[in-house]
Amino acid sequence: MTVRVSSQADLLNRIEKSGIVGMGGAGFPTARKIQIALENRPTVLVINAGATNPDCNPDPTLVAHYGNAVRDGVCVLQRILDPTRTVLALNRAVTLENLDCWGQLGVAIHRLDTTFPEGEEASVIQQTLGMRLPQGTYPADVGVCVLNVATVFAVAEAVLLGQRPSDRLVAANGRTLWVRFGTEVRAVMGGQLPIRICGRWSGQPARGDEAVDSSLFAIWSGPVRPPLPCIRCGACDESCPLDLPVELLVAEAISATVGVISRACLSACYECGACVDACPSDIPVLDHLRTAKRTLAMEARAATVADVSLRRFERRTRRIEQDDRDSAKNRHQRMQRVRRWEETAEIP
Ligand code: SF4
Ligand code: SF4
Repeated sequence: MTVRVSSQADLLNRIEKSGIVGMGGAGFPTARKIQIALENRPTVLVINAGATNPDCNPDPTLVAHYGNAVRDGVCVLQRILDPTRTVLALNRAVTLENLDCWGQLGVAIHRLDTTFPEGEEASVIQQTLGMRLPQGTYPADVGVCVLNVATVFAVAEAVLLGQRPSDRLVAANGRTLWVRFGTEVRAVMGGQLPIRICGRWSGQPARGDEAVDSSLFAIWSGPVRPPLPCIRCGACDESCPLDLPVELLVAEAISATVGVISRACLSACYECGACVDACPSDIPVLDHLRTAKRTLAMEARAATVADVSLRRFERRTRRIEQDDRDSAKNRHQRMQRVRRWEETAEIP
């Protein structure tokens, strides 16, 4: 099909029908993301290929070896979004060929530092566009549409070849492989346990029977050293790109006494994992932070449920009191009628 003569609605419809979701880890439906960007125009389109997670970096491989398909995907997205600028955020270590082809599309290449966690979305926006995403806002709120390069590749396949995504590039302990969706992660790693998925530092422990899907971009397995006590070195604080008091957050998360300020800090954390990488005691810092986040979310949900229950109980109490008042009033009126009848009735 020819992208330039297809309507924006037709192209967007093809993306929606193919069921593509964000392949950088978030798994948000891509058609919906584009729709939101269209509602917040003008838009800057940022293609994120800057992931710097150690041992889990399939994005630069995609740009380096499948550049034509990625450029086709960029063409489709430019046709739909009509962005004011298009930026490709790329890890500095990647050698890019056919620079002219990127230039003809009007794509500015922005080289990112290779230090972890430079490839995170908020960090990419700050580095490529020089704007800091305010806490609690999404890129679309500031007129930016960030798409992972694997998503752009899937868009090209869906729109130009009519193929739904059925496999993806996955980084497995430093190797980059095409893996079909539905394959167990344990099978990808040859049965080796323990396993972490979606990043050695920023990922989470896996049982092994989880299936590879659109948003699973990396699998790591290897010996895990048991954590040692915290030596209060502050390396986690220094490594945090958001300058969060990580040492304090971890101490509070472990003792389950998260204070008010720490709650705000926890919600700001975007789980990049830099603090885990920095910790000399091998403390699974991010796992503790995630547990604390889950606990706070459950508390918030429980508070909402309790609030709703309390309001229902108060409504019921008011209804019963009103019923009692109504029946007392009716009884009184009946008694009044009986008295009036007795007073006026002629007794033979
Ligand atoms: S606290 Fe959150 S944002 Fe800061 S380094 Fe750790 S994971 Fe990254
Ligand atoms: S880096 Fe690790 S050992 Fe150092 S203060 Fe943070 S949690 Fe403690």
